Amino acid sequence: MKIHQPTRAAGLERLADFTAQAGFNYAHKRNFDYGPEADVEADPWRDNVSRLSPYIRHKLLTEQELIEAVIKVHGSQKADKFITEILWRGYFRGWLEQRPEVWADYVTGRDDALRAMQKLGSQRKTYEQALESRTGIDCFDFWMKELIDTGYLHNHARMWFASIWIFTLKLPWQIGADLFLQHLRDGDAASNVLSWRWVAGLHTKGKSYQATKENIVQFTDGRFTAIGLAQEFVPLVESKSYKFRPLKVPPAPPAAAAFALLVHEEDCHPESLTLPGKPALLIGVSGPDGKSPKGVADPVREFAQGAVTDALTRGSDHFGCESVMWNKGQKLADVMKTAGIERLIVPWLPTGPLKDAIGREVNGCNPRWVMRNYDAAIWPLAKAGFFPVKKKAPDALAPLGILL
Ligand SMILES: Cc1cc2nc3c(=O)[nH]c(=O)nc-3n(C[C@H](O)[C@H](O)[C@H](O)COP(=O)(O)OP(=O)(O)OC[C@H]3O[C@@H](n4cnc5c(N)ncnc54)[C@H](O)[C@@H]3O)c2cc1C
Repeated sequence: MKIHQPTRAAGLERLADFTAQAGFNYAHKRNFDYGPEADVEADPWRDNVSRLSPYIRHKLLTEQELIEAVIKVHGSQKADKFITEILWRGYFRGWLEQRPEVWADYVTGRDDALRAMQKLGSQRKTYEQALESRTGIDCFDFWMKELIDTGYLHNHARMWFASIWIFTLKLPWQIGADLFLQHLRDGDAASNVLSWRWVAGLHTKGKSYQATKENIVQFTDGRFTAIGLAQEFVPLVESKSYKFRPLKVPPAPPAAAAFALLVHEEDCHPESLTLPGKPALLIGVSGPDGKSPKGVADPVREFAQGAVTDALTRGSDHFGCESVMWNKGQKLADVMKTAGIERLIVPWLPTGPLKDAIGREVNGCNPRWVMRNYDAAIWPLAKAGFFPVKKKAPDALAPLGILL
């Protein structure tokens, strides 16, 4: 499997290669996990998923341009499956944005679970066996290695992995979600934490995801025996129900004198933001290590930092302005003062680790926020389940010129 380079150019190249597969092939084959060694050159049918997630997660490629690209080639009906998956991402983002306490409780629950595990000898042993690919469950041990070696897992493998983690190995879901955030190049607060909650039976209450031997054997092309899986999948329960807080879409920033634009790893395509003019300075920041108390694996850090560097280079060319990094230990206000700029515009910082790390300091600089029209159209729809979002998406996206 080709390792992802953290540039928009590499993302566009992969998109160009994949677009032909995004219609019929994706719709019929997307659930198959042929593994990292699949020879997609010899058999393009095995090139059945895009592997674009690290680009989408850092907005090196935007959801809007992906949907437009696949509609152009296949039309919206034939590309419906792919578009639906892109909408899932927006659904999870919007859902978490409107229930930020779920993220805060995940962080507390994760830290509690990690502490508790130190005292639970047998749980710690299972955890260590899992990390070292020594559970004896062939598929799980393979995926653990694949996760650590490649920074990617197929969607179906993530579902099976999480189900085995929770129901067979009986490990805390928060520690599994933390492991994913340490190793996935696309590791994302909303898609990751809410998917783990979904597998556990906490997102759709009372409905857990069941990893079965038959399903794994079928959709991995018989690569595994998948022996030793739990037969019971009793959904986890929690006493709390989370309050829905409707998203307030920020008004577009008014035209202004010189302003600096913050370029962070949640949005690495400054050229396509709706801004009140050209920024006088780009200020780059990334902080992927905040995703986990254990920090992140080198490839995850390198991808996030590389994505911001790429965004600064492209942005400087596009806007004809300088760029600087806001480095650890520096004050953002000082970076702006040194440049002689008072106004700051910031692409929306979604709920998650980067907002936890820099949100307060950014707010201290009285920023104006910009939210992408696509996000402003999709996120507020995430009031409950996914299907109302899918149903309302055509009307919500039509004003953007996206005809589903
Ligand atoms: C337990 C678990 C944890 C996950 N953690 C993450 C995560 O941290 N970051 C992340 O981006 N995705 C996560 N996902 C969702 C999904 O597995 C990945 O987005 C997808 O596998 C990425 O591979 P791809 O780009 O080849 O996907 P494709 O099938 O080619 O899909 C195209 C794009 O659609 C979006 N997408 C596809 N499936 C989903 C989905 N189920 N939910 C949300 N968006 C989706 C992604 O942006 C993806 O790149 C998780 C799923 C599970 C079950």
